[in-house]
Amino acid sequence: MAETGKLRRAETSSGAIEYILERKKVKNINLHVRRDCTVYVSAPRYVPVREIECFIAEKSRYILQAQEYYRSRAEAVPRPVYTDGAAVKLLGRDMELKVIQSDRQQVTSDDERIYIMLKDAADTERIERLYSQWLAKRCSEELTAITQEVWQDFQPLGIHLPALKIRTMKARWGSCHYGKGMIVLNRRLIEAPPRCIAHVVAHELCHFIYPNHSADFYALLDRMSPDWRSAKTELERLVILR
Ligand SMILES: [Zn+2]
Repeated sequence: MAETGKLRRAETSSGAIEYILERKKVKNINLHVRRDCTVYVSAPRYVPVREIECFIAEKSRYILQAQEYYRSRAEAVPRPVYTDGAAVKLLGRDMELKVIQSDRQQVTSDDERIYIMLKDAADTERIERLYSQWLAKRCSEELTAITQEVWQDFQPLGIHLPALKIRTMKARWGSCHYGKGMIVLNRRLIEAPPRCIAHVVAHELCHFIYPNHSADFYALLDRMSPDWRSAKTELERLVILR
């Protein structure tokens, strides 16, 4: 998601608040706190920074409360432990890990389970490594296939099939590097249902036409991915980034 803003600091009576400022064609100063606790502000070009920081100071209580909420939410979700019987998510499905002692080292899956076969079923480090490798490959295959499928609708707009990079990101689902003809998708999207992944891909592909989040951008996104709002809500409910 295009990011052109700069990180700044506003001094308020509740302490310094760091925020990202983006100048945009908007009517008012808009402020929101993101899931990763960053404070994002958009404002018209003609509004001086002093006025923006007054606005932030007025909202400081709300900002601190929202940051506290997101922090506690992220902490409430335990880090996954990959042992026999562990619950994991794959493409929106709840799956169970099965660790099986076997002379043949292999990872396979069906609709409900992911089978990790290895010599020493107590070797948690190796289990985690085997699972991660399998998941990375699966992630690459699935995200590539979904990107190609979504791109079919964008091809008539003159957009080339972008190069795809998959990364672990703490605060964003994807980003578009339109100058390089490349999109980056968050590795953790593999946990989400395909329709949620498709929404992220459509969002990034729209950036090849409109690099910013302008009204034109959202008009195009509405046309290309009409139910993107519900897909986004579902994605944020199911997969909590950290
Ligand atoms: Zn974006």
